[in-house]
Amino acid sequence: MYPENDKMPGGAPVLVSRCLTGAPCRMDGQSKPDPAVLRLVEEGRAVAVCPEVMGGLPTPRIPSERLGDRVVNRVGEDVTDAFVRGAEAALRVCLEQGCTCAVLKSKSPSCGKGIIHNGRFDGGLVPGNGILTELLLAQGIPVFTEQEYAAACRAVDDEMSASPPDAR
Ligand code: SF4
Repeated sequence: MYPENDKMPGGAPVLVSRCLTGAPCRMDGQSKPDPAVLRLVEEGRAVAVCPEVMGGLPTPRIPSERLGDRVVNRVGEDVTDAFVRGAEAALRVCLEQGCTCAVLKSKSPSCGKGIIHNGRFDGGLVPGNGILTELLLAQGIPVFTEQEYAAACRAVDDEMSASPPDAR
């Protein structure tokens, strides 16, 4: 059961980070499958995008982090153009598919929401959003991290299991 309110309509398509569906598109060539996102996939509701791959970056790829308005990789190259190109392509997919919200991988320079790596490649975090998240929020599309989405699903599941069947 999924949250059903004005921000997460049951049945509506949801934009998701492709790595959360089990696709090996992360910078290290790995994936990060998430149970709640996999449920969206099973329901046919997930619209999976990897903005960094869509921007033309290879997999695996050199780790990158946001540094103000720019994105730089660990060897000091400015990769902002690829990140912006990919985020714009992912936004187009989101709008074309009618996604009403997004569940994106936390801390990523593309997909992170609220907290991202600090641009010094030392594991530190700072307040901020990934490039795709910024574009989605600017369009009024709600963005949830995978942790936020899983917590919302659990809350709905708990509520449903606590309600008597005839009250549902
Ligand atoms: S850009 Fe987003 S979808 Fe692609 S690997 Fe990074 S977090 Fe996952």
